[in-house]
Amino acid sequence: MSGIVGEGIGMKVLITGGAGFIGSHLAERLLNTGHQVTVYDDLSTGDLDNVRHMEDDPRFTMKVGTVLDREVLAPLVEEADVIFHLAAAVGVNYVIENPLHALTTNIRGTEILLELANKKKQRVILASTSEVAGKKNGKANFSEDDDRLLGPTTVTRWIYSTSKAVDEMLGLAYWREKKVPTVIVRFFNVIGPRQSPNYGMVVPRFIKQALLGHPITVYNDGEQKRCFTDIEDALDGLVALAEHPDTPGEIYNLGGNAETNEISIKKLAHRVKELTESDSPIEYVPYEKAFAKGSYEDLNYRVPDLTKIHSAVGYEPEVGLDLTLRKIIEYIES
Ligand code: UDP
Repeated sequence: MSGIVGEGIGMKVLITGGAGFIGSHLAERLLNTGHQVTVYDDLSTGDLDNVRHMEDDPRFTMKVGTVLDREVLAPLVEEADVIFHLAAAVGVNYVIENPLHALTTNIRGTEILLELANKKKQRVILASTSEVAGKKNGKANFSEDDDRLLGPTTVTRWIYSTSKAVDEMLGLAYWREKKVPTVIVRFFNVIGPRQSPNYGMVVPRFIKQALLGHPITVYNDGEQKRCFTDIEDALDGLVALAEHPDTPGEIYNLGGNAETNEISIKKLAHRVKELTESDSPIEYVPYEKAFAKGSYEDLNYRVPDLTKIHSAVGYEPEVGLDLTLRKIIEYIES
């Protein structure tokens, strides 16, 4: 093991977007394994409440700012041994409501980050998304080198996919041409405590709706399927990829176990209703009612092929969907 972020090594780690859902859990994991962590976040979708419990740790630093601010970001990158670049506009609703901000943050922000990392050529772990693959025909699981299939550029939803595809290409180009060791990780519907229901993500939305006794809003017929990933599994994969000597210049899917975590959205709504013992009705909402005209297209099916990450680092997701749903319910209730 190269010990890039290995246990007890005491690396200086910068996490952009570290006050968000995944970033704040990662910060905690890295502090717990002996590292110094600096979180940089503009709090657009991140929240100081996610990191408050770490503030008393002398190895933890929180800095508020945007990745577009090169002057503030430069010394933070300079000081870091390794960088997790998670800062991005995320969430279908957020991107549809803030298209320009999403494009700028996701594309220019990543370009600035990689330019800065090029100076000392530290390892960069670049957060990407299964969304990059787009709609994809057929029912096969998504592999990293599949052709991409997106709708027209007029459909705002595809901004997220397109901007993250540009990020991936920037990361690969910085690796190939400048030898910045960039590892690209495509997350598949990661869920867990602290994920906000405010930006579109279906699981915290359904749980909040169920707990409030509001209608659980299933879009269309609810036959569309996803495979959800528990945050702790996601962190196992993320850290393993960050540590491994041979991962730079490669793209990895990081997702949940299809056998236990693949589910239709309709079934998910029923499961959430059962686990919360809610009286909420399940309401089927046509896409035209949920989203402004022409802004949204859905994907019928999205399940990861995990062969590559398994071969590289032995990754095997373990947490079943019900357990994660229970953890989120407990978190939202508290
Ligand atoms: N969805 C839904 N009701 C909601 C929010 C989302 O039925 O209130 C559906 C959405 O249409 C999609 C799935 O849940 O088919 C997952 O949506 P999300 O935005 O969480 O992530 P995606 O996988 O689409 O990026």
